[in-house]
Amino acid sequence: MTDLFDLEHIWHPYTSMLNPLPTFKVKRAYGATIELEDGRTLVDGMSSWWCAIHGYNHPELNQAVSDQLQKMAHIMFGGLTHEPAIELGKLLLKITPPSLDKIFYADSGSVAVEVALKMAVQYWAALNQPAKTNFITTRSGYHGDTWNAMSVCDPVTGMHQIFGSSLPNRIFVPAPQSRFDGKWNPQDIQELKQQIEQHHHSIAALIIEPIVQGAGGMRFYHPEYLRQAKALCEQYNLLLIFDEIATGFGRTGKMFAWEHAQVEPDIMCIGKGLTGGYMTLSATLTTKQVAETISRGEAGVFMHGPTFMANPLACAVALRSTQLLVEQDWQANIQRIEKILAEQLTDLAQLDHVADVRVLGAIGVVELTANVDMKTLQQQFVERGIWVRPFGKLVYVMPPYVISDDELHYLLAQLIEVVKSMQGVNANVLA
Ligand code: PMP
Repeated sequence: MTDLFDLEHIWHPYTSMLNPLPTFKVKRAYGATIELEDGRTLVDGMSSWWCAIHGYNHPELNQAVSDQLQKMAHIMFGGLTHEPAIELGKLLLKITPPSLDKIFYADSGSVAVEVALKMAVQYWAALNQPAKTNFITTRSGYHGDTWNAMSVCDPVTGMHQIFGSSLPNRIFVPAPQSRFDGKWNPQDIQELKQQIEQHHHSIAALIIEPIVQGAGGMRFYHPEYLRQAKALCEQYNLLLIFDEIATGFGRTGKMFAWEHAQVEPDIMCIGKGLTGGYMTLSATLTTKQVAETISRGEAGVFMHGPTFMANPLACAVALRSTQLLVEQDWQANIQRIEKILAEQLTDLAQLDHVADVRVLGAIGVVELTANVDMKTLQQQFVERGIWVRPFGKLVYVMPPYVISDDELHYLLAQLIEVVKSMQGVNANVLA
């Protein structure tokens, strides 16, 4: 099944070139179905890492790409502009926090985070506070794999040990402990408060994934954390950066996760679902005040400008994807998925080897008591006709919003069987 050229020459995410994990060759994908080269079909539980929100091979998204292709695939954004970037921008400003007013298009989620961090540093430099260059963040966060994005990822599950002193030292506070569906514990904010009090002179911004910490542990935390964090940022002159790259475009049940807390950031990163998973595009949005302050600084400009900035194909498909989302009763649809996830998964919490089950919007998480053997588990899922890629102790799904009730029931029934079969055979399946 695994392609030999692929195995020998092509690097996959987070894999060894000596002992690569098997890969499954995909022939095509449509709706919530992935069809493998050997003819097997899998119900998709991953949305290709959060992004294929409308499923694969969507006729209207295909049309948007091919219409744009007839005009131009790409054109430089320095000195030139185009309709897809402008129309997408207008729509984004309607659905993001009201105080955000300026949009910087970037290439990927990680780059959007780099851009946000650079904005924060340039902002304070423009205000004659050049010492404010560091960042504070919570543990269990994930913000991407580029250098500075990596520096604000969780220092244990992230890549800090490997990259050591080559990474800038950031200030970390414990991850929020109060659950989204639980009671707020005022202790939760204490360490953030203390660290900000102590270090605010050197901190440009607090960066955080609102409500859902994704790749750093799929944790859902209490909205009060964000309200208090915002108050601290205001009190001590820190910018607040929300990384909504994973949480955006309806995934948590709100269009963007800030709405759960009604707290607006100064800078916000979006990506992943932006293009409906068709191609890579991200954006960093900020307020008029931040943008104008940067522009009044010594440099007079914001210092970033990637080659593929605002790629027209990507903007055109992002525009259609976002229109598709807002034109439909997307909230009812996410609630439909959430209800099925909760009904089907909750009972798993009773198993000895399951530490927790949690559901929010179109995200369902089963946290086990020990790390899973991804290779074995993935093989079992594929044999049962579903695509689920676990990591660490987490078996989770975040399906495309077009998944039907029947497909979702099938996906969960198979997942549940596999999780149940791990009971008592932990030694074989759990690493
Ligand atoms: N921030 C968050 C919250 C993410 O989940 C991710 C991707 N998993 C990124 C940033 C990085 O995005 P990308 O992989 O597109 O660089």
